[in-house]
Amino acid sequence: MFSVFKKKGPQLVDVYKDVIPQEYHGIDHRDLSHGSLKVIEVLQHSGYEAYLVGGGIRDLLLGKHPKDFDVATSAKPMEVQKLFRKSRLIGRRFQIVHVRIGAEIVEVTTFRGSANNSKMRQSNESGMLVRDNVFGSVEDDAVRRDFTMNALYYDPSNHQVLDFVGGYDDLEDGVVRIIGDPETRYREDPVRMLRAIRFIGKLGLSLEDGTSEPIRRLALLLRDVSASRLFDEVLKLLQAGYGRVSFPYLIHHDLLKALFPSTSDLLESTDDTHYRQLINLALNNTDIRLKEGKSVTPAFLYAALYWPKVHHRWQELAAEGHGRTQSLAIASSETLTLNQQFIAIPKRFCATIHEIWDLQVKLEKRHGRRPDSTLEHPRFRAGYDFLLLRERSGEIMAGLGEWWTNYQVSDESQKRELIVSVKEVFEQAPKRHFGKKYKRRG
Ligand code: ATP
Ligand code: MG
Repeated sequence: MFSVFKKKGPQLVDVYKDVIPQEYHGIDHRDLSHGSLKVIEVLQHSGYEAYLVGGGIRDLLLGKHPKDFDVATSAKPMEVQKLFRKSRLIGRRFQIVHVRIGAEIVEVTTFRGSANNSKMRQSNESGMLVRDNVFGSVEDDAVRRDFTMNALYYDPSNHQVLDFVGGYDDLEDGVVRIIGDPETRYREDPVRMLRAIRFIGKLGLSLEDGTSEPIRRLALLLRDVSASRLFDEVLKLLQAGYGRVSFPYLIHHDLLKALFPSTSDLLESTDDTHYRQLINLALNNTDIRLKEGKSVTPAFLYAALYWPKVHHRWQELAAEGHGRTQSLAIASSETLTLNQQFIAIPKRFCATIHEIWDLQVKLEKRHGRRPDSTLEHPRFRAGYDFLLLRERSGEIMAGLGEWWTNYQVSDESQKRELIVSVKEVFEQAPKRHFGKKYKRRG
C-alpha cells in the first residue's frame, strides 16, 4: 500500500513498512484512553519512540470497543520507570511497566527483538521460549508479536498506523494470520494456539490456512505450558463473553483433548448429546451474564467442563453398589485431582466446584428437614442453577428443578405439602452397604 522499505526480519518474515494515514484508517482520538495518550506524549517528549499497539488498535479498526490499550516504546523498562512516578516493574518472563495515570493503569512494554542465541532469549527442547527479554527496534517488536492484526502501531502524534507485517490488509480481509513460520511460532509459545481460537471466536474472523494447519498436530504441546498459565488462558477464552462460539473451535482443532482430556474423551465416546449440551448451556449462561454486567465465577464454568467425567464416574461407582453420596464424592475428587496437572485451578475455586457437585446429590434428598438445610447451604444458588442446566441438557428428567423453584418461594405449610408430595424417584439407587470399603481402581 504505502511501502517504504523491505528487509528480511529475524523470523524470516518480509518486513516492510506501510504507513496508513488517518483518512484511511479513521481512528478517532476520542476513542483512545486518556492515560495511554498521556504516557505516549511523555515518552515521545523525552525522545523515545512510543505507539499504541495490540488488541486496542485491532479492535478499534474492527469498529469494536477495545478492552484496553497497550503502549510499546523504545524506552527500556527502567527508563520508563524514571519518567513516571507512579509506575511499577512487573513480570519475569517479559518485563513490563505498569504506569498509573489517574485511575487508569497503562501497560508499557519495551520493543522486543528476537536475537537468536542470546542469553536473554532461551528455548527449551520443544522450541518453547522460556525467557524473552532482548530489546529491539519497532520492526523487531512487530515480528515477535503473535498475529499480524496484533502488530499494528498507532502514533497519536501524527495519527498514522504503521504496519510491518501486512496486518492491516489481513484485518480488512477478516483473517487471523500468525507472523512467521506457524510451527516455529506455536512451538515457541503453544498458548498462541489458544489465542488464535480466542480471536476467531471473539472477533468473528477466520484462521488463515497456514495458521490453522499445524494446530491439530501441535495441540499437545499445551501440556508443556504451566498449568497455572493455562487456567488464566482458558478463562480468557471461555469466560470473556465468547465462550459458546469459541468452544466448538477448541474441539475442531483438537485443543480440548490437550486441555480437558477426560471431557474430550466422553464427548467423543457417548452418543448422548447431553454432556455437550450442558457445557454449551453453561458457556451460554456465562456469556449472557457477562453481557448483562453480572458476576461470573470460574467455579461454575469448571464444574460444567468437568461434569461429564464426574457424572460418568458417579454412575459407574453407584452401579457397583456404593452409596450415591459417597460415589459422587469419590468421582469429584478423582476428577479434580487428575485434571490439576493440566489446568491448575486455584484452591478457593476447587472448594466451590466440590460444593456445586455435592449439592447435586443433596438436592435429591427432599424429606424431613433436609430441604431446609440444603436451602441454607452457602452455594445453594449455584448448585440449583447447575441442576437446572442438567435438566435442560436432558441428562436428568425435568421435575426436581421445578420442585426447588417452588420450594424456595413457599411458605411453611406449602413447604410441608411439597415434601409430602415427593415420590422418592431419585432415591431408588441400591442401599449403601455400610462397612463395605471402597477400593480404588488400578
Ligand atoms: P485482548 O483484546 O484479548 O486483550 P490482545 O491482543 O490485546 O487481546 P493481550 O494479551 O492484551 O492480547 O496482548 C497484547 C499484545 O501483545 C497482543 O496484541 C500481541 O501483539 C502481543 N502478544 C500477547 N501475547 C502474545 C504471545 N503469546 N506471543 C506473541 N505476542 C503476544
Ligand atoms: Mg490487550
